[in-house]
Amino acid sequence: MKTSRPIRARIRPAAILANYRSAKACAPDAWAWAVVKADAYGHGQLRAVEALRHEADGFALLECENAVLLREHGVRQPILLLEGIFGEADARRVVDYGLHSAVHCREQIEMLAAHARADRPLSLYLKINSGMNRLGFDAATLPQAWESLKKIPALNLTLMTHFAEADGARGVLWQLERFKALAGDWHGPVSLGNSAAILRHPLAHGDWVRPGIMLYGASPFADQSAAEFGLQPAMSLESRIIGVQSIAAGERVGYGGTFTAEQPMRIGIVACGYADGYPRSAPSGTPIAVAGKLTRTVGRVSMDMLACDLTDIPDAGIDSPVTLWGPGEAGHVPADAVAAAAGTISYELFCAVAPRVPVTVD
Ligand code: PLP
Repeated sequence: MKTSRPIRARIRPAAILANYRSAKACAPDAWAWAVVKADAYGHGQLRAVEALRHEADGFALLECENAVLLREHGVRQPILLLEGIFGEADARRVVDYGLHSAVHCREQIEMLAAHARADRPLSLYLKINSGMNRLGFDAATLPQAWESLKKIPALNLTLMTHFAEADGARGVLWQLERFKALAGDWHGPVSLGNSAAILRHPLAHGDWVRPGIMLYGASPFADQSAAEFGLQPAMSLESRIIGVQSIAAGERVGYGGTFTAEQPMRIGIVACGYADGYPRSAPSGTPIAVAGKLTRTVGRVSMDMLACDLTDIPDAGIDSPVTLWGPGEAGHVPADAVAAAAGTISYELFCAVAPRVPVTVD
């Protein structure tokens, strides 16, 4: 629903395409699954898929229903279920719709084997737990996986693993070593790199990379910005000033009075709160742009509003444009900077944008 309340999320499909091309340029020898799970990290699954329709090697997501939706939308590229199937109905759909499926436990393989047909090769991604300790087979469970896989009459198999610390100091080599040990004499295709590995660890790409956050123009790293990699922000959150208060030194702002003015201040009230997806954890001092100038939030984020410092922006007033994150009419605030101030990651900011926020597409 388009409302007259001035908040908007702006999505740039062209940025998603440019970022996909950047991922391909970083991993020139690999195919790339465009990770569009979680509604394309809040950008809209169909919007992202449309942006990449003529270039993506494949699309990776979570729910079988969404994969079917893409097939019915006419998507012909491979579609990978990143966590595999969630029951019998999914197993049938994997076969019927020619989906690729990860398999991380024996139960999934058995269910798929029960529906497998000799005339329709199954494309499975055997998920290896190389240290994330979330999903996948380890040394103890792999023999059962190989046993169960034998029941599938026609099989295209890829081995995959997921990195836990590709963005951090520990890196990927320790997981790669474990992966290689567990893969044994496997010489078939492997799928390894997420965005952090694509950008920083060329040895950890594999035959298929799986870029997610970089497609949306944010950085997987705390110490390197998206701009340094030439990534283009695909989402902006914008709003306007709906109220102005002039307050004396010693006055406090917002619930709990967590911010106290040390001098007289002009406070702008922005139509954006945590019910829109802006993080309530964002403290006073979180960057925000108003009318072309960078400033800071003050006080606690409310459900429908937040406050910012207009003291040094005398021209700003009611209806002045505000950029919460991304490039916007009021200036550019990197989503990663807002996320860092709020003690979270851009992934969470993007996914949390609420359904009540109208979306415009550039
Ligand atoms: N591969 C798998 C299995 C994932 O779960 C994810 C996201 O969490 C990705 C790839 C993409 O990761 P990123 O968004 O860090 O590139």
